[in-house]
Amino acid sequence: MKRRNFIKNASLTGVGLAVGNTLASCVENTSEEKKSVIATNKASLPLVIATWHVIDATAKAMEVLQAGGTALDAVEQGCKVEEANEKGQSVGKGGLPDRDGNVTLDACVMDNHGNCGAVVYLKNIKHAVSVARKVMEDTPHVMLAGDGAQKFALEQGFEAEDLLTEASKEAWEKWKVEAKYKPIINIENHDTIGMLAIDKNGDISGACTTSGLAYKMAGRVGDSPIIGSGLFVDNEIGACVATGLGEEVVKTVGSFLVVELMRQGKSPQEACEEAISRIVNKPNSNYKDFQVGYIAVNKQGETGHYSIHQYFSMTKFQDGINEQIQSDYFNKE
Ligand code: ASP
Repeated sequence: MKRRNFIKNASLTGVGLAVGNTLASCVENTSEEKKSVIATNKASLPLVIATWHVIDATAKAMEVLQAGGTALDAVEQGCKVEEANEKGQSVGKGGLPDRDGNVTLDACVMDNHGNCGAVVYLKNIKHAVSVARKVMEDTPHVMLAGDGAQKFALEQGFEAEDLLTEASKEAWEKWKVEAKYKPIINIENHDTIGMLAIDKNGDISGACTTSGLAYKMAGRVGDSPIIGSGLFVDNEIGACVATGLGEEVVKTVGSFLVVELMRQGKSPQEACEEAISRIVNKPNSNYKDFQVGYIAVNKQGETGHYSIHQYFSMTKFQDGINEQIQSDYFNKE
């Protein structure tokens, strides 16, 4: 089932699979015991994880890694698969537009040296993730926005094309019938692709790409291109990427938080759970109305994933197995 339909068909309140990573329960108190847990779970490299059900994208990333490519090459190539997939209405070509009918893309990359690049409000260029990489590698800046980002992309040889497909145009026209000025905050309106990879040298990189919240206000930018919110990589510790309602991720600097929690000794699973609890436990949090999900990996190759509501998933390619894993979640009411 496609990500969006999968979420749409889901009841937020149902109790379902809780097949998340169970490392949280394995972490022991003494450093000796801790060492043995890490050794038991020591993953074979390379490894790729991504938000949602994107096995073609993780397959591409793994192909790059197996051929000796870097983690950065892998996450870029993997994300490009989804950006080119016109049927995916949350990323790249075919992404759902803002309320004015414009498809605007946000993306970022971060490598094992702590370098990063991002584009926001990019129009007419499908491979936002590659433009973000160019910003990182070929400019003295971290982020380019709007017309400037597009101009830079064209100068770099990217092709301009209309990203609004017939299907997305139709969906937008349907939405317009009852359009309300206020942004509609529903989990079916967003599904960023975030990808993290560790190459065979143990180096970590990440990328994140999205058309953002469907029917957003013109000019709205979410968490996905914001380093520390949508994505953060620290090659000594691990990395995290987010999906869901970007405003809530930005308010808690989610991905940086997860990496810092791992630095303090938490497993990726524990760190993702703690970052979700920071959102849902805010006084007056209306978390029942929105979804946020995190995936994370640490330097040992252990992974974690957690969300507020059911039906978030992670795709993981490791040890020859490329699989979708349902995430455990907070709201089990
Ligand atoms: N986080 C993205 C945003 O808020 C959307 C998503 O993950 O689907 O723009």
